[in-house]
Amino acid sequence: MLKGKVAVVTGGTRGIGFATVKKFLENGAKVVLFGSREETVKKAVDSLKTENPNWTVEGAWPDLGDADQVADAIGKVKEKFGKIDVLVNNAGISQSTRIEDYDPADFDKIMNLNVKALFYTIQPTVKIMKEQGGGCILNTSSMVSISGQPSGVGYPTSKFAVNGMTISLARELGPSNIRVNAVAPGITKTDMVAALPDAMIQPLIQTIPLRRIGEPEDIANAFLFLASDLASYISGAVLSVDGATRV
Ligand code: NAD
Repeated sequence: MLKGKVAVVTGGTRGIGFATVKKFLENGAKVVLFGSREETVKKAVDSLKTENPNWTVEGAWPDLGDADQVADAIGKVKEKFGKIDVLVNNAGISQSTRIEDYDPADFDKIMNLNVKALFYTIQPTVKIMKEQGGGCILNTSSMVSISGQPSGVGYPTSKFAVNGMTISLARELGPSNIRVNAVAPGITKTDMVAALPDAMIQPLIQTIPLRRIGEPEDIANAFLFLASDLASYISGAVLSVDGATRV
């Protein structure tokens, strides 16, 4: 479904990002995954190359809080592969601290990675996509971008912003043949969720009509669809992949 396409996936070393990288490779794309540390990036790339030596997968670890480093890393992908067809902004962090105890520095940290870093990756990528006549930008939002969440206000706030950026850029970039969409996962089995106490997870499962937590592959499938030509008339969408959870 992505034969001949070149994709960049941030937060590609584990969880939803790693599953998306793998899904894209299985479907013929060449992928550059971004992670936060050289060690974890190399480990992820090595494991994928071991799984299938024919896959073209590389890694980079720019500081996503530094616009220049990000622009440099994006530029290197274009230099090496000649284009960027798909950008998946997936790196993100969450926190569930109550407002009274919320350290303002943590609020900045969440907004910097979950929102500002998207702006930093998108800006240089759009220039490349415009030159080549189009492209596809995908952002990882969350079900809390629709429902909010009862504590940890920074995280849902950041994901509402992701939806705002997605819908606005879809309108701005549509005339340049650049589609912009988001996937809003429900609770998904990754490290982010493993860190939550079981007492919080079990009641959550009861709120999910499909009565299970999502797998990273469930989310990767949505990214694959939106990145592919099957979604050629879909832009400005926030696709819920959450088993019909309504909290
Ligand atoms: P995860 O913790 O398993 O993976 C997070 C990824 O982000 C990792 O690859 C990590 O290297 C990267 N990352 C973290 N901090 C970084 C930093 N400072 N700089 C660069 N990269 C950094 O989490 P996940 O569950 O796979 O989350 C991926 C995305 O999905 C996030 O945007 C998250 O908000 C979103 N999401 C997750 C769930 C869930 O239940 N797991 C639900 C909704 C949305």
